[in-house]
Amino acid sequence: NRDLADFDPDVAALIGKELDRQRTGLEMIASENHAPLAVMQAQGSVLTNKYAEGYPGRRYYGGCEHVDSIEQLAIDRVKALFAAEYANVQPHSGATANASVMHALIKPGDTILGLSLADGGHLTHGMRLNFSGKLYNVAAYGVSEQDYLIDMDEVAKAAREHRPQLIIAGWSAYPRQLDFARFREIADEVGAYLMVDMAHFAGLVATGFHPSPVPHAHVVTSTTHKTLGGPRGGIILTGDAAIAKKINSAVFPGQQGGPLEHVIAGKATAFKMAAEPEFAERQERCLDGAKVLAERLSRPDVKEAGISVLTGGTDVHLVLVDLRDADIDGQQAEDRLDAIGITVNRNAVPFDPRPPMVTSGLRIGTPALAARGFGRADFVAVADLIAQALVAAEGADTSALAAQVRALADKYPLYPEL
Ligand code: PLP
Repeated sequence: NRDLADFDPDVAALIGKELDRQRTGLEMIASENHAPLAVMQAQGSVLTNKYAEGYPGRRYYGGCEHVDSIEQLAIDRVKALFAAEYANVQPHSGATANASVMHALIKPGDTILGLSLADGGHLTHGMRLNFSGKLYNVAAYGVSEQDYLIDMDEVAKAAREHRPQLIIAGWSAYPRQLDFARFREIADEVGAYLMVDMAHFAGLVATGFHPSPVPHAHVVTSTTHKTLGGPRGGIILTGDAAIAKKINSAVFPGQQGGPLEHVIAGKATAFKMAAEPEFAERQERCLDGAKVLAERLSRPDVKEAGISVLTGGTDVHLVLVDLRDADIDGQQAEDRLDAIGITVNRNAVPFDPRPPMVTSGLRIGTPALAARGFGRADFVAVADLIAQALVAAEGADTSALAAQVRALADKYPLYPEL
């Protein structure tokens, strides 16, 4: 039982480097967060040793009394957090949660209707190379070329034309809220199930800063590691007993074997955290930070460089920067921010003329900085640093910007206990 640094100094050193990277830089990938120490302790526990195929009280292995209690705690907490009747906390990831819902509710060859990947949808919503695109007949809706918003009349039109068995509402890159009630109306009209994938905005829903899809959707899926701030993983919620039964069977034995009880313990801890007032205050700073970002990236000098904010602002934790009229592309913009210590990801914008590996957009999110403690004044400073880096002349010296990024990172020490 040698410890990691002793037995495997290579891996230990690389983990140390990653900790240092997270500490000294600013993480602004919209799907990322900094899980609290308590969650990581649960995840790094002896629970990783335990097999527990089945569900609490109905396992295929002995010795499950403690993991039963842990999983039940996670279920009860997430049900309370989102006011949902039934919950499955076993999906290993968001992708597995979505696969399980499709496995539960529709058959291979059935039609699914989701937001196209090019317009902000997720791979699991019907991308060609994903299981969703291979197993199901895919129809897609997109955003309008006028305002880059999802036009619900177009969704209705697509639903009437393609008669899907499943409609998916949810996104990986979209800066506005969705009309869940209207999605449900459309699903009911064509006899489809409605699945809302709230992976990105679950933390906002948990704290009331975003409308909840739970009363409207047949099924809601989510990850637990984005705005929700917990361990990497997935969950499935529903208000319908018959659907819940199908979903449990689709997760296990349908899609997965033994659940990751160490991760489920981390989820339970994260759900407890998400119910506390500090978490709501953090989501408020996260939202406010994204709004600040959208405002400062609409400054005249930024606009003059051909850079704009898609839809003119944001209602969520991220901003989409449109570089179609700029000299720099998504890859160059990502590299420029990386060079000053800010991590973001390039992202295709709707109607993007550049190839997917280059893109004409950036997706910039505030959840990780909000978790770190950033407030309005800090977000103003970060937004201005981003703006300066993006409008800088090609090859300009940005070391002064990098120093300011480092000072902001040092102001909010990350994981001081480690
Ligand atoms: N659903 C949405 C909307 C996402 O954005 C993502 C991840 O980016 C997922 C599902 C998949 O989650 P995971 O990476 O845990 O499989």
